[in-house]
Amino acid sequence: MAMEEKFMEKKKPWLGEPKNTIAVLQKYGFVFQKKYGQNFLIDPHVLDKIVAAAQIGPDDFVVEIGPGIGTLTQYLAYAAREVCAVEIDKNLIPILSDTLSEYDNVTVLNEDILKVDLNRMAREKNQGRPIKVVANLPYYITTPIIMGLFENHVPLESVTVMVQKEVADRMQTGPGSKDYGALSLAVQYYADPYIVANVPPNCFMPRPKVGSAVIRLTKHASFPVEVKDEKLMFALIRASFNQRRKTLANGLKNSPALEFSKEEVERAITACGFALTVRGETLALEDFARLADELERV
Ligand code: SAM
Repeated sequence: MAMEEKFMEKKKPWLGEPKNTIAVLQKYGFVFQKKYGQNFLIDPHVLDKIVAAAQIGPDDFVVEIGPGIGTLTQYLAYAAREVCAVEIDKNLIPILSDTLSEYDNVTVLNEDILKVDLNRMAREKNQGRPIKVVANLPYYITTPIIMGLFENHVPLESVTVMVQKEVADRMQTGPGSKDYGALSLAVQYYADPYIVANVPPNCFMPRPKVGSAVIRLTKHASFPVEVKDEKLMFALIRASFNQRRKTLANGLKNSPALEFSKEEVERAITACGFALTVRGETLALEDFARLADELERV
């Protein structure tokens, strides 16, 4: 039985149904805030797909970023042991206490997700075990949210999120594609990305101007490359993609964030077996790791 059918049996009204979403919005006279990237899901099949892709089970502690009026939250609460939903918009808080009133396993935090200490939350609510993050993300801060989760070493099992289609492509692609960049490398260093579904604008209210996709990032058990100085590797990656049209050597020499001389940069590139005319966009993660190890010795 699909999640939506099971759900209908248990609790009504459920918000995956567009008419119920409209009724809630009207009841509270809710006004969408563009600055918060508010595009609410109104398609039960997409909601089902997100929960299935995240593989939520009765033992899971789930963090939802941006619950909106609680549409996806209802699905998560039904499937998980416990859900913490973090919502920045204070106008949504009374609505959420209404739409989630039947669930005793949901906590709503009225906070900016970028300021929430998820390490602490995992310790306190999940005995430090890896948590699952699920969200229909606000698109204006997709990258800081994803990078924050990884760089702060939050204990994570997976991150299953709706993002702009173009951003999902960037996360999944490798060298040689125009979408390849610092985000691809960072995501792939920490996780295995898998695009679950493409989602058209008519699945949201209001409709976004761009196409969307659900992507699951499954955290690697161990890093796919070994590097002595992770920070240096990411500084090299950022420097080489900040000046995408330049050669790798020029990108690294010109970067204000790096302090290597022309000779040091050229010696390291040559030691890695690359031509001095090589461009950063042709290098894979293991190439950047080798380059970082060469420069780390300087
Ligand atoms: N989950 C709901 C759904 O699928 O219908 C809403 C998704 S909507 C794309 C993004 C949600 O994130 C909005 O509710 C918005 O207010 C919230 N949001 C935006 N910025 C946020 C932030 N910095 N921290 C927490 N929530 C945020």
